[in-house]
Amino acid sequence: MHKLSKAPLALNGLGRCFITEKHVSAINTIRRGLVCSEHGDDSSKNEVYDIIISGGGMVGSAMACTIGMDPNLAGKKVLLLEAGNKKAMQKVPDSYSTRVSSISPGSATLLSGIGAWEHITKMRCKPYKRMQVWDACSDALITFDKENLQDEMAYIVENDIVVAAITKQLDTLTDNVQVKYRSKVVKYAWPRPHHAAEVIPWVKVTLANGETLQTKLLIGADGPNSMVRKELGIPTVKWNYDQSAVVAVLHLSEPTENNVAWQRFLPTGPIAMLPLSDTESSLVWSTGHRLAEELLELDEESFVDAINSAFWSNENQSELIDTAGSLFRGALSAIMPSAGSPRQLPPSVAGIGQKSRVMFPLGMGHASEYIRHRVALIGDAAHRVHPLAGQGANLGFGDVASLTHLLSQAAFNGKDLGAIQHLLEYETERQRHNLPMMAAIDLMKRLYSTNAAPVVLLRTLGLQATNMLPALKEQIMAFASK
Ligand SMILES: Cc1cc2nc3c(=O)[nH]c(=O)nc-3n(C[C@H](O)[C@H](O)[C@H](O)COP(=O)(O)OP(=O)(O)OC[C@H]3O[C@@H](n4cnc5c(N)ncnc54)[C@H](O)[C@@H]3O)c2cc1C
Repeated sequence: MHKLSKAPLALNGLGRCFITEKHVSAINTIRRGLVCSEHGDDSSKNEVYDIIISGGGMVGSAMACTIGMDPNLAGKKVLLLEAGNKKAMQKVPDSYSTRVSSISPGSATLLSGIGAWEHITKMRCKPYKRMQVWDACSDALITFDKENLQDEMAYIVENDIVVAAITKQLDTLTDNVQVKYRSKVVKYAWPRPHHAAEVIPWVKVTLANGETLQTKLLIGADGPNSMVRKELGIPTVKWNYDQSAVVAVLHLSEPTENNVAWQRFLPTGPIAMLPLSDTESSLVWSTGHRLAEELLELDEESFVDAINSAFWSNENQSELIDTAGSLFRGALSAIMPSAGSPRQLPPSVAGIGQKSRVMFPLGMGHASEYIRHRVALIGDAAHRVHPLAGQGANLGFGDVASLTHLLSQAAFNGKDLGAIQHLLEYETERQRHNLPMMAAIDLMKRLYSTNAAPVVLLRTLGLQATNMLPALKEQIMAFASK
C-alpha cells in the first residue's frame, strides 16, 4: 500500500518523451487504485470515476463520446449510466419513427467530429434547404434559405437513429468509456467539505440495484425532469404551456423533392411538416391539450383532413389585416424591390404511417444554475424549450461542445475536472447562448397564440419586414444553426 502511494511521485519524475501510451494507461490504473484505496473503498463496489454522465439520451450519449475521444481526456475513467435499454440498430426499421429532430449544421459538425454523422447519413436522414413560416391569421410569411439553395439548412433525423449512431461510436471506446444500460440512478450524495461530520470528497451515485459509485465530476444529462437538478435543489424557472404536441408520420399525396420545412402558426399553436423522404414527412402539431386529445382519437381520414385544413384553410384571416398587410408589403417592395421571397404551397397529405400518433405535453424550463461543485447539467436537464423552433436537442449539443472543450483544457492544464472554475466558464458561455434563444422561442409562442387584431397586425408587419431584410434573416439563421 505504502509502496503504491509513492508511485505517482516517482512516475511524475519521468520525462514526457519516455512515456508511451502503455505507460499512461498503467499510470492511470495505479492512480485509480490509489483514489479508491485512499478513501478506504472496495474498488469493485464503490469505484471512483473521473466522470459519470447520468442519462444516455441524445445529449448524454454525445457527451460520453466527445469526452472519450478527446486526446487530453484520454485515460480518464468515464461511465455513462442510462435507465433504458441499449439503442443499438442492426438494421434501419422500414417505417419512420414519430420522434424526429431538426439537427442544425452546428450539431451535425459535433456529431461528425465523433464519427456518428457518417453512420447517420448511411442510416437515414433528410436534409432540407428552405424553411417557410407563415401566419394563419394573415398573409404574412417568412422564408429562410441558404444562398442559391446549394447548402443544407438543417437535417431531419429520427431521434433513435441519432442515439444508435452515437452508440455505435461508444462501442469503439470500451477502453475508457464504460456504459451501463438499465441502470437507473436512485440516489445522489453530494460532496461534503472537510469540516463536516462525514467527509465525502466525491459525488456518490446509488443505482437501483444497490450498487454505489463515486465520481469527481457528475454530468446530469437526465432530461427535463432531471433528478440531478432536483436533488441539488437548483432553482428552476419553469412553466407548462397550454399546449401538447401531436406527432405522426405523414404520407404525401405525390412524390416531391420535399426539401422544405413548413410551419404555419394557427391561433391554437404551430403546425409543422418536416421532410423525411420524397413521399413522407413528420408532423409536429402543437395545440391545446383538449384538441390534441381529440386529434389522437380521430379516424385516419378525418385526421388527414384536419392536417390539410390546418395548412390550407384561410378561415382565420380578416380582411382588415390582409389589406393592411398588403399595403405594408407594397410599400416595402417599393423601397426594396428585390427583397422578400415568394410564397410556396406545402404538399398535401394523403395518409399517415402505421405507427400511432403520440402526444407530448409542452413546457419551458431553465435551471438558474447549470453547475455546482463537481456537477454540471447539460441538455434538457438544464433547459427545456417549445419545439416550434426545433432547437431543444441543438442547444444540448451546444452544451456538449462547450463543456468538452473546457474539460479538455482543464485536463491539459492538469486541473481537477470537478473544480468550479472551469465549470463556471461553461455555465457563463452556455447561458449567454441559451437564454436569448429561449426568450425568443417563448416570445414567438406567446405572440402567435392569439388572434387579437392588434397583435396579429403587429406580428404581420414585423414578419413581413423581417422577410424583406436579408441581413437580419442571415443573422437569425446563423444564430439558429449553431
Ligand atoms: C414534439 C417534440 C419535437 C421536438 N423537435 C425537436 C427538433 O426538431 N430539434 C431539436 O433540436 N429538438 C427537438 N425537440 C427537443 C428534443 O427532443 C430534446 O431537447 C432532446 O431529446 C433532449 O435530449 P436529452 O438527452 O437532454 O434528454 P432526454 O432525451 O430526455 O434523455 C434523458 C435520458 O436520461 C435517462 N434518465 C433519466 N433519469 C435517469 C436516471 N435517474 N438514471 C439513469 N438514466 C436516467 C432517460 O432514460 C433518457 O434516456 C423536440 C421535442 C419534442 C417534445
